[in-house]
Amino acid sequence: MKVLVTGGAGYIGSHVVADLVKAGHDVAVVDNLSSGQRQHVHPSARFYLADTTRPIELAKVFVTETGSAPIDVVMHFAAKLDVEESVRLPLAYYHNNVEGLRIVLACMLDAGVKNIVFSSTAAVYGDPLAQEPLSEHMPTLPINPYGSSKRAAEQLIQWVSASDGINYAILRYFNAAGADESCALGLEKPHYTHLVPLAVRAALGLEDAVKIFGDDWQTPDGTCIRDYIHVSDLSDAHLLAAQYLLTEQKSLLLNLGTAQGSSVKEVIAAVDKLRPCPYQVVGKRAGDPAVLIADASKAHEVLGWCPQRDLDVIVKSDLNYRLRART
Ligand code: UDP
Repeated sequence: MKVLVTGGAGYIGSHVVADLVKAGHDVAVVDNLSSGQRQHVHPSARFYLADTTRPIELAKVFVTETGSAPIDVVMHFAAKLDVEESVRLPLAYYHNNVEGLRIVLACMLDAGVKNIVFSSTAAVYGDPLAQEPLSEHMPTLPINPYGSSKRAAEQLIQWVSASDGINYAILRYFNAAGADESCALGLEKPHYTHLVPLAVRAALGLEDAVKIFGDDWQTPDGTCIRDYIHVSDLSDAHLLAAQYLLTEQKSLLLNLGTAQGSSVKEVIAAVDKLRPCPYQVVGKRAGDPAVLIADASKAHEVLGWCPQRDLDVIVKSDLNYRLRART
């Protein structure tokens, strides 16, 4: 299949691009390199330095690409995704995550592209009252501009699907982490906020002790519980979802997680098994729910997708990536 990947130089996008190329697909990447790494784009993918929020720039890419052969699927990763930043810059988040998507959809309609795989997030669920695994039909009540912009984007895709007959796979990621097997790709940021890279970096002496945001939550060890999913497992799900769109010509909305929760202390313990990981307990971070775990049974039933890599693989791959990349 021919796939156009927006945000293909980013963390999850670059893993998916590499897996698409390895599986023999024809891949073009659009990225503005605001946070992505050019060197993380597989050399066999065609690369366009362009911004999804600029209609003329993006339309040119679609025209060039459809000139040789039709695009079968757009995978849309390009987005802003930092919760804290979104609280400070809600307009920027709606501009990138909703307006950017609107322009991608308009280009798709002009170019006759019928299928989109969309990166969404568990942040659309907000702060659920119950601590049970979240299934796709649970209410979506986002509590920050990031989650809210992603929910608005999901809705826009659903409206355009109804009006223009495109098929979508909306994929709600839980806590993506880890690096690919070769450890050539991984999460790189000027300022880290996620637990796994922070704990690994603390173990490598690249950060001070990792902070535990509260240890008096209503959880067994008092720290927050999340569903950490390996980036390569996420990538596998994208390839399966794209194939599903092409063969079934039906839409999908799926959670992508492992259905296993790990506490902050358990993540730190997993890192500590590899290298001593210094930590300190500090106050709670605003807006953190106590527990977020996916009910991922639908992705298993519909796509036959089953995550293969556990927390130990996640932290080991992140550590190996950082040892290799020195980041
Ligand atoms: N967390 C923490 N210390 C950190 C970063 C995160 O204790 O330095 C906790 C955070 O409160 C949450 C979990 O680790 O319970 C995962 O946070 P992360 O930012 O990685 O992902 P989120 O679940 O917020 O998307």
